[in-house]
Amino acid sequence: MIGFIGLGTMGEPMCRNLATKCEEKVLAFDVNPAPLERLKAHGVEAAPSVRDVAERCNYIFLSLPGVPEVKTVCAGPASLMLHAHAGTYIVDLSTTTVALARELSSRFEAGGVHFADAPVARTRAAAEKGTLSIMVGGTEQVYHRVKPLLLHMGRDVTHCGAAGAGQATKLINNMVLFQNVLALAEALTLARKSGLSGTKVFESLMSGSADSFALRHHGINALLPDEYPERAFSVQYAIKDMEYLLEFARQAKLELSGAKNALAALERAAQAGNGAKYFPVLVKTL
Ligand code: NAD
Repeated sequence: MIGFIGLGTMGEPMCRNLATKCEEKVLAFDVNPAPLERLKAHGVEAAPSVRDVAERCNYIFLSLPGVPEVKTVCAGPASLMLHAHAGTYIVDLSTTTVALARELSSRFEAGGVHFADAPVARTRAAAEKGTLSIMVGGTEQVYHRVKPLLLHMGRDVTHCGAAGAGQATKLINNMVLFQNVLALAEALTLARKSGLSGTKVFESLMSGSADSFALRHHGINALLPDEYPERAFSVQYAIKDMEYLLEFARQAKLELSGAKNALAALERAAQAGNGAKYFPVLVKTL
């Protein structure tokens, strides 16, 4: 049986894809009962606890907010570490730190339980369509065992290296993305303050050397129409990821001024009361 713990913005559609595309039954748990109720219609069984998932499943996926929740589910009281049986594959789809992924991998492997960090990139819409990009850290053996299941949730599944390499790659991805979105927010603000059409400027950038994924998605779909919904990738989650990235950079003895600058812009957005909104909202506090 396949287990799934954490059924939020990303976890609920990923779990639904697993349940509808896999032959094996899916058993899921979340501290919030609402997504468990909705997933019943797709054949997902609701588990009463993490322990129940640990005892009944041989593959267990996690999609939790960040480090504290992953630590609780993996290593707290009644956790996976206490109750998963040897030979189980645990795949953490949450974005956490490189250090936590490495620590969990060695502690699980010591008990005969396999672990992979497999954070996801792209949006809730991609989670719904099963077209996420998934960056995996773990041994070759673990990667090859979990890849067929990951392909039910993602279109691009990449083996980035040993434990922690998935988190490292994902955090670097987000560092580049946030700096891009900050640059686009500054470009749009400058254009509009100078009486230029934001649409025309962005269209020109798209046909020039400033073209990017961030421009075509975050620029065109959020910054131009000034739309920053909740339940998308929030300012709070972007801050979390930048803090994890800067912790990783400190371990590598690097000072990343661009990353720190993007974090400061995100923190200003949170202080202005926009923490739950889609992160390009940082444009409002430039
Ligand atoms: P979310 O806050 O919407 O969902 C998290 C879920 O975990 C919630 O349903 C919550 O009830 C559940 N949960 C929390 N603690 C729990 C516990 N102890 N036991 C069981 N369930 C628990 O978060 P999300 O937006 O789905 O993001 C999940 C992860 O994916 C995060 O690490 C995030 O950084 C990453 N991510 C999010 C997006 C996005 O667009 N939202 C995109 C890429 C990656």
